[in-house]
Amino acid sequence: MIIFKTPELFREFVCDDVTHDVRVLATMFAVYMDSAYGRDVIVTSVLGGEPGVKRKSTTHEEGRAVDISAAGLPPVMGKSVSEWINRNFSTGAYFPEGDAMDACVFHDVGYGPHWHLQVAKGRPLIFKTRKHGDMVI
Ligand SMILES: [Zn+2]
Repeated sequence: MIIFKTPELFREFVCDDVTHDVRVLATMFAVYMDSAYGRDVIVTSVLGGEPGVKRKSTTHEEGRAVDISAAGLPPVMGKSVSEWINRNFSTGAYFPEGDAMDACVFHDVGYGPHWHLQVAKGRPLIFKTRKHGDMVI
């Protein structure tokens, strides 16, 4: 189940400014967490970016990112979950230096460990079927 830290975050999550694809990604994340760990997920940021971080997050501003809290969880679990997401989903985008833009980044940029889920601008979320190739959602 997805829990929103505040009612405002829920309103942001369902508004038209947030891309459908990042909502799908967050939903799949929640399904995985329930299935694999029996845990609910807590959304801590949608359009507002990452609290306390000076650099503005374009992905949040543009409705392409959602943060999910990993407070109190072991870092190894944080990495393991993000690896699962990135094995199964792709943004299909790369940074200019050649690194893939991962659909899930597990990090702590100053307001606690969390998963940053994101999709690329103007690109559909990709689901990797492995056996049959990739498909867009
Ligand atoms: Zn974020």
